[in-house]
Amino acid sequence: MHEVIIIGSGPAGLSAAIYTSRGGAKTLVLGCNPKVAGEYVIDNYFGFPEPILGKDLIARGIRQAEKFGATIKCEKVVAIHQQEKFFEVKTTTNLYSSQTIILATGVSRIRPGIKNLKEYEGKGVSYCVSCDGYFFKNQKVMVVGEGAFAANQALELLEYTPFVSLCTQGKDLNIPENFLEKLKKHNIEILQEKIESLEGKETLEKVNFSNGQSQEVAGLFIAMGEASSLDFAYSLGLITKGNFIEADCEQKTNIPGVFAAGDCVGRFLQISVAVGEGAIAGKSALTYLKNKK
Ligand SMILES: Cc1cc2nc3c(=O)[nH]c(=O)nc-3n(C[C@H](O)[C@H](O)[C@H](O)COP(=O)(O)OP(=O)(O)OC[C@H]3O[C@@H](n4cnc5c(N)ncnc54)[C@H](O)[C@@H]3O)c2cc1C
Repeated sequence: MHEVIIIGSGPAGLSAAIYTSRGGAKTLVLGCNPKVAGEYVIDNYFGFPEPILGKDLIARGIRQAEKFGATIKCEKVVAIHQQEKFFEVKTTTNLYSSQTIILATGVSRIRPGIKNLKEYEGKGVSYCVSCDGYFFKNQKVMVVGEGAFAANQALELLEYTPFVSLCTQGKDLNIPENFLEKLKKHNIEILQEKIESLEGKETLEKVNFSNGQSQEVAGLFIAMGEASSLDFAYSLGLITKGNFIEADCEQKTNIPGVFAAGDCVGRFLQISVAVGEGAIAGKSALTYLKNKK
């Protein structure tokens, strides 16, 4: 059991980890190279009169968080579920539990590019299996996505219906072998087609592919790319505003024990802000843990 699990190893996540691990909390950071960790020159971050490359700044942040005892693993999180007294975090290779969660996942929602998708949101189109899977008991459902996140959503749907398929939306399949085996075992068909439009009188009835063919489905679950802050928000029941998570001035969300920081909160999308919010989220997580004891 960890005391703090931070999703995201960008400026917000690493800054939070420095505070929580330095404050003595058992901290795990899950996340791979953030976008900014490339050959980009960072010219406006406090304390660097000579520009620093994004990858060097992130490498320093990692070293500093590790110095204080944080563990940092490059693992993709595919689901977070709240249990009675803790949170369960599922990655492509492991299952972890933690007393608190800090979301620092940046912004990365990939849209599937289906013409009239919006028209069917709430009428068959969903972004969250744990919220809406129940409404599709024993009905035909399809998950749209090409990676481990989509595969996990498809497997979670089996709790409600055995009629599950997965469509990569024309993208190359990027599902790890362990998930592929499970999909195969449960006869979940994988289609490498592209859905162009949706059809149905009042609710979704079928999807139309760009090759001219159609398939009947009652539910369509969107899970493109990796799970984003919004996907976690939906499954945890966090309040959102547009594409961002609502957090107060202490980076608390509406769910006790869940904090959010950085670009996923959607204020001023800059490193300095992400670092500041990460520090506040870390401090708030420490206070929460202390009050819980
Ligand atoms: C090319 C580029 C140049 C920039 N230049 C500047 C600049 O000069 N100055 C400036 O102030 N800002 C700059 N920015 C903006 C700045 O990078 C962001 O505001 C900042 O990185 C936000 O930090 P963050 O920690 O919130 O999110 P991010 O840095 O986006 O980090 C998000 C982290 O979450 C992880 N993650 C997401 N989903 C999952 C999942 N499902 N499982 C596991 N991990 C996940 C990612 O792998 C990543 O580690 C730039 C951004 C880019 C892309």
